Amino acid sequence: MAISSLVFLAVVLGATGLFAYKASILFRLAKATKGPVWSGNRMDRLAERVETFFTNVLFQKAVLKKKKAGLMHVAIFWGFMIITIETMELFAYELFPGFSLSFIGESAYATLRLIQELFTLLVLSGVGYAFYRRLVLRPEGLGKSTDAIIILSLTSGLMLALLAMRSFHILAEPNDNNAVMFASMWISGIWQSLGVTPEVASTMAAGFRWFHHLLVLGFMVYIPSSKHLHVLTAAPNTFFRKLETPKGMRKVNLEAEDATSFGAGKISDLSWKDTLDLYACTECGRCQDACPAWNTQKPLSPKALVHDLKDSLYENKLALLSGKTDEVKPILGSKITDDVIWACTSCRACESACPVFIEQTDKIYEIRRNMVLMESRFPAELQTVFKNIENNFSPWAMSPDERDKWTEGLEVRTMAQIAASGEQVEYLFWVGCAGSFDDRSKKVSKALVSILKKSGIKFAILGKEEKCTGDPARRAGNEYLAQTLIQENVNVLNNYGVKKVVTACPHCFNALKNEWKDFGIELEVIHHTQLIAELIRSGKIKPTKAVDEKVTYHDSCYIGRWNNEYNAPRTILASVPQLKVNEIEQNKSNGMCCGAGGSRMWMEEHIGTRINVKRTEQLLEAKAGVVAANCPFCITMLTDGIKTKELTDKVRVMDVAEIVDQATV
Ligand code: SF4
Ligand code: SF4
Repeated sequence: MAISSLVFLAVVLGATGLFAYKASILFRLAKATKGPVWSGNRMDRLAERVETFFTNVLFQKAVLKKKKAGLMHVAIFWGFMIITIETMELFAYELFPGFSLSFIGESAYATLRLIQELFTLLVLSGVGYAFYRRLVLRPEGLGKSTDAIIILSLTSGLMLALLAMRSFHILAEPNDNNAVMFASMWISGIWQSLGVTPEVASTMAAGFRWFHHLLVLGFMVYIPSSKHLHVLTAAPNTFFRKLETPKGMRKVNLEAEDATSFGAGKISDLSWKDTLDLYACTECGRCQDACPAWNTQKPLSPKALVHDLKDSLYENKLALLSGKTDEVKPILGSKITDDVIWACTSCRACESACPVFIEQTDKIYEIRRNMVLMESRFPAELQTVFKNIENNFSPWAMSPDERDKWTEGLEVRTMAQIAASGEQVEYLFWVGCAGSFDDRSKKVSKALVSILKKSGIKFAILGKEEKCTGDPARRAGNEYLAQTLIQENVNVLNNYGVKKVVTACPHCFNALKNEWKDFGIELEVIHHTQLIAELIRSGKIKPTKAVDEKVTYHDSCYIGRWNNEYNAPRTILASVPQLKVNEIEQNKSNGMCCGAGGSRMWMEEHIGTRINVKRTEQLLEAKAGVVAANCPFCITMLTDGIKTKELTDKVRVMDVAEIVDQATV
């Protein structure tokens, strides 16, 4: 082997060894985390996983949700894939002088050269736009990143080195087939006009080839400690993603005998999948741009959270690698503060926006669980809520005996009455705490009862036997209280043999549909908008009365992003005579939370603009007289937002059920 080949081999082996060492530390750190992986098995449904891998990794579907930045990424991604063939060819040439891929045939080789030339230019234009975005446009979500500048400089350096190498090579070894490398040919012409001789060109080509080799190897060594780690981790993270919209919180085994800690207090309490999430972050800032907390000046940025958790992982490297998890420092500290964790509304806008399927929300809620269950550390106002739930079985300070008071004069029967009469009903109407105790929401309960009666559907309520679903306690980290309530409710439902449930509350809907199966009951749960849409479709109710209003629709997070239902409410509104629907830009999966989710309904909003006011401002852009909603908490928050904007005489918030009740006889 020639000396130069031996030197090259030594350099390659050295760089590969360094890369392997750094990668092995990342792998061992991921292995050292011991927490449970949420949403269970990440190796199931292989066909779907392979499909999502191809669509999102190779065809970059999620990345392309943002057009300009997406196209830039596609150019760089595919450019790198194609140019890697040339890089490998050059490596082989260095080890075995004279090697080339020309054995594939003259025209195939010329085509390959042409494609590589085109992709080199494509990568350069992608990198150019990336520089322009970072240095001139400077979108807030991207932030300042020296790492990104280094990576972009390395990438453009690689492409320029290739063009330089090719151009000198063309001059050193003229060949008719070189014409396909049109840009390199053109540069070659410049060298020629400057009087560069073939001998000098040959030396320069070799020099740039070596420069390219060193850049490639340097890049490889740099990757594990840079944000560009995502080139290795985004693909597996996409493969192991949750395959559906997130549908529930993990049940904590509170009786586990070996459990010394619940939730995530330290980075070691997270799982290997969380660690992979941290490695996969591209720092694109899309999650931050979508986050209602961040957009209203709260200290929570899902991007920063992921970054800070990654820092925590690295800071605890020695303790983690030596298995001394008792020496791992708490997650909460100067960067991830209590205010960061409690600012989250559980809207999952961050996850919906993330191009590499990072699961930010579960991490926040596991941290909350640890704070509440292990340290009794939570905002003061939650104390009252927990007490009310314990004593009154609802977050409201109202007697449980008043739970069914709203039915007075409506002739709504309870499951107990139905059971006593030996009759059967098709649906249990799960009213929920808001629908039972909140004056505004009671009107929605009444509208739904009216619709159910008009349609002839047999239904009943639990009345005083219904208790809070535990959702507010669960999202506030009080898993113990939540589980107590869930189990009591499940026992009542099982006692009556309930199978089908309709509810007007998205939070109740999500809990019953997606979380209670962990507590021993399988229910067919339908949101009232889904049921009403079906009743209209089947002709059981007919919206025949005109409602001459302009309406805009607000998607609740727990029906939209959590359960992927965007059509049913829109189908309903479209069926109401004379009702005009004006959609705003921030709708469906891009909709903004009202600010009440994640138990934020029960907490004060001390910092920044109020989320409900910001969301109201967006909805007001539709210039509609009615904001249609499907959730009692959204209705409360948006009504309050409209009051703040002093527009109560011009705009009102209505549940979709109220509109339909008005439109039907
Ligand atoms: S769930 Fe919503 S509020 Fe929480 S971090 Fe994500 S985007 Fe922000
Ligand atoms: S978490 Fe996802 S969306 Fe947020 S910065 Fe990282 S890659 Fe981008």
